[in-house]
Amino acid sequence: MSEKIWIVLQQRDGKINKMSWEAIRAGQALAAAVGGTAEAVLLGSGVQEAANELAQVSLNAVHVADDENLADYTPGRFVKTLEAAIGTAQPAFVLFPHTYQTVDYLPRLAQSLDAALVPEAVSFEVADGSVVWQRPILGGKMFATVRAKGSGPVLVSLQSGAYAADEVEAGTAAIESLSLDFAAMAPDREILGVEEAAGGEVDLSQAKVIVAVGRGIGDSDKMPTMQALADALGAELGASRPVIDSDWLPRNRQIGSSGQTVTPKLYIAAGISGAIQHLVGMKGSQVIVAINKDAGAPIFNVADYGIVGDLHEVVPALTAAIKEATTG
Ligand SMILES: Cc1cc2nc3c(=O)[nH]c(=O)nc-3n(C[C@H](O)[C@H](O)[C@H](O)COP(=O)(O)OP(=O)(O)OC[C@H]3O[C@@H](n4cnc5c(N)ncnc54)[C@H](O)[C@@H]3O)c2cc1C
Repeated sequence: MSEKIWIVLQQRDGKINKMSWEAIRAGQALAAAVGGTAEAVLLGSGVQEAANELAQVSLNAVHVADDENLADYTPGRFVKTLEAAIGTAQPAFVLFPHTYQTVDYLPRLAQSLDAALVPEAVSFEVADGSVVWQRPILGGKMFATVRAKGSGPVLVSLQSGAYAADEVEAGTAAIESLSLDFAAMAPDREILGVEEAAGGEVDLSQAKVIVAVGRGIGDSDKMPTMQALADALGAELGASRPVIDSDWLPRNRQIGSSGQTVTPKLYIAAGISGAIQHLVGMKGSQVIVAINKDAGAPIFNVADYGIVGDLHEVVPALTAAIKEATTG
């Protein structure tokens, strides 16, 4: 098997996001497993610096479409651009980070290419000479193993944290310009403006430390105690869905199947029971600490460290201990 593997990256203001680096790592691993070549694809405007960064990665090529018509993301133009580029190059696999943006345009791209789509893959293996992918189903309760049927490119989006961004292999890559008539590609909608979601910009998928708050906190007036712990750790606050539904924190802080998927180095879950819809969004965290007064809470099944106790006592004590340890 000798296959060309493309990795389509996502950037904002010229900065490649963490999940795209994870996708690069997946592409490198796939190329090694199938004896293929890994090539990155970068779309945007003013992305030369990002392209230069990619030139220092172990990739067979970096295809760059740097054009003012691609400054704003519009599904129409992205689909048309990728449809043309993939149609010409005919890669066997095209990997994407599984982000809100790719969720928006990938089904349409797959349809226009008549290609198989494997969304939210977490791993792959080569079996009987072909690649099979694992992906969560039924809200993360089970994993399906899937093999794409038919010929043509297989589009795969990779779940956050499935591959490690810091394991991307360094090397060199030639930058190649992807020249297409972008202006002729109808953007299918006009972007009138872009606004940050309420609560300010927060991308929990990039956070290294998260203090996650559950219904067990009792009420919003206890939030400053949780914020104090987050501040002591330099962490972001996250939450389970009931906390968001109660308006104790803004929606962009929700973690789980209908919120964000996070993979921080440290995840502290306080007053969270560990429902499957929450676990699916955080169980890829490197170290999980659970604080819960119920020793039988399911969160302890995924926790590396468990503290059975009242969070109103544990959290202030933890904050004080961290402050003492860090300030000497
Ligand atoms: C379609 C669908 C999508 C969903 N998506 C999400 C999602 O994205 N994210 C998500 O989180 N949920 C989601 N849910 C909801 C999910 O099923 C659970 O209801 C939710 O995760 C429970 O949140 P919780 O653990 O904070 O609350 P609870 O389940 O009520 O747990 C509270 C915990 O706090 C503990 N506790 C109480 N008081 C204290 C105290 N003083 N000290 C220490 N511990 C204490 C309790 O022992 C308990 O374990 C979804 C549900 C559905 C049906």
